[in-house]
Amino acid sequence: DGASHKIRLLEQSPAIEGQFSQFVESTDWQVVTQTHQAKTEQDVLRALAKSKLDVDDFAALISPAAEPYLLEMVTKSEQLTLQRFGNTLSLFAPLYLSNTCANECTYCGFSMSNAIKRLTLNESQINKEVAAIKSKGFDHILLVTGETNKVSMPYFERMIPLIKPHFSQLSMEVQPLDMEEYKRLQGIGLDGVLVYQETYRRTTYLEHHLRGNKSNFNYRLDAPDRIGQAGIHKIGLGVLLGLEDWRTDSLMMAHHLRHLQKRYWRSRFSVAFPRIRPCEGGIVPKSIISDRQLVQLIAAWRLFDRDLEMSLSTRESPTFRHHAVRMGFTTMSAESKTQPGGYADDAQDALEQFEISDERPVADIMTMIREQGRDVIWKDWDPALSGP
Ligand code: SF4
Repeated sequence: DGASHKIRLLEQSPAIEGQFSQFVESTDWQVVTQTHQAKTEQDVLRALAKSKLDVDDFAALISPAAEPYLLEMVTKSEQLTLQRFGNTLSLFAPLYLSNTCANECTYCGFSMSNAIKRLTLNESQINKEVAAIKSKGFDHILLVTGETNKVSMPYFERMIPLIKPHFSQLSMEVQPLDMEEYKRLQGIGLDGVLVYQETYRRTTYLEHHLRGNKSNFNYRLDAPDRIGQAGIHKIGLGVLLGLEDWRTDSLMMAHHLRHLQKRYWRSRFSVAFPRIRPCEGGIVPKSIISDRQLVQLIAAWRLFDRDLEMSLSTRESPTFRHHAVRMGFTTMSAESKTQPGGYADDAQDALEQFEISDERPVADIMTMIREQGRDVIWKDWDPALSGP
């Protein structure tokens, strides 16, 4: 039939043309900035009236011209999320496997020059963490590590088979890997990969990634292309809001999402909205995004793409998370520990990556979600559970 013919054609199509770094190389940051700065009320109204939005519409919705339409945007975002995902919100837990890191990132407590105690979990420590996380009910786990040779493919290939049998979904947020490596990890149970670009502006990126492999801007930028080529089920994007003009970075990420969606149409996509948090040796944000602007950004993403999974972490305050539940999110972390060994052993607090803001126990988060009229699901969001 027509659909399978299309699938065959796409599968036969030659190697993927152009990775996203080529787009970034050929794109002037100032021009992208002017795109959102020039948006008018007419542009906002046009975007609000459309059902299929392009990147230019997204620029209008994140612009100052859209600020008077915040209520309308949030209302529409809620409606679209309910229609597409039903009244559910899925919970996940990050599992920090290691805080050793050979990189120097100005905003992170794990940076190699920070004099903190380093720990990489061994098999028995991982088993204890897994048991502690499972006892809270989680069925979707996100593995997180620093970036070092000690915690790379051989370690992942030993640890994933240990962890995966306990969870129905396993995602990773680790250093970017080669396409073949992603394929190998998929073969042993990897479902999703998150690689946050932090910022799409090369000069700013290099100011904040001073040493180590992470200072390779293009290798990181093209990681989502490699994840897509490896056929990984879910690809997660994000920028660290505050490193650069949050509107321009978000607009670049919207371009990135569309680039990937055109090429890797079998994958699902998620976005997150981390704002810079205090940490060991931390920095002052260059561009502050207020709570109100963050709400605008969240609603703009939902209007831009109704299929997009959107994730909210414990970086945000209980009050913000309370109000954000209905806004457009599909996934939330709860009672997160950002230090290796932190679930099974409270004494590990000194190892944490950043201070979390919402420290409430899982039971309180579930109550809060249910009070907002949403059901908690423990797996990653499942299309079979969605609304109409
Ligand atoms: Fe290491 Fe990641 Fe922290 Fe950078 S952000 S110092 S790579 S753990």
